[in-house]
Amino acid sequence: MAKSIPLLLHACCAPCSLEPVRLLLEEGFDPHICWTNPNIQPMDEHDRRLGELRRWCAATGIELIEADEDFERWERGVAPIGARDRERRCRACYAMRLARACDVAVERGFQHVGTTLAVSPYQLFDTCNSVLEQLCLSHGLTPVIRDFRPWYPEATRRSRELGMYRQNYCGCRFSAAEAALDRARLRDERRARKG
Ligand code: SF4
Repeated sequence: MAKSIPLLLHACCAPCSLEPVRLLLEEGFDPHICWTNPNIQPMDEHDRRLGELRRWCAATGIELIEADEDFERWERGVAPIGARDRERRCRACYAMRLARACDVAVERGFQHVGTTLAVSPYQLFDTCNSVLEQLCLSHGLTPVIRDFRPWYPEATRRSRELGMYRQNYCGCRFSAAEAALDRARLRDERRARKG
């Protein structure tokens, strides 16, 4: 049997890890999860998502690498962009997290790097991939870019079945406000349709 290929998989949370890990294993990779998400606010929420990921990794036997997180740097480098330009804000946020994941990959001898962000239809897929591609190029690494979005409903189903904690916003305070506005808009549209 062919030897599996070690892969450092940056993960944003446990529910979003389910399907990428399954599919990458099927492809012949050996995923090791790397957590580095200084974007998640408030801290209770950050710890809750990390706690869920710890439980799942321990239960499935997948290595979880907890890299350091520079919360102040995120506040200085990403937060000032604020709500006025989501693409630029998220690009800076992806770059900070994925750069740390690439550093960890180099330090630990991984050649291949991917991210579970590629499963969520709420992420900026092309922006995230171009950031990962550029960072891998500058670190001498190989990006593993896959479109996992068709498996998002299955990730939702499986995470519910497993009783996992599931958040309803991306991570930062801006995304929490944007998600709340979206939910309010959808609720108003539903009410308007009912007359
Ligand atoms: S919406 Fe998500 S990716 Fe974008 S800046 Fe906020 S936490 Fe980062």
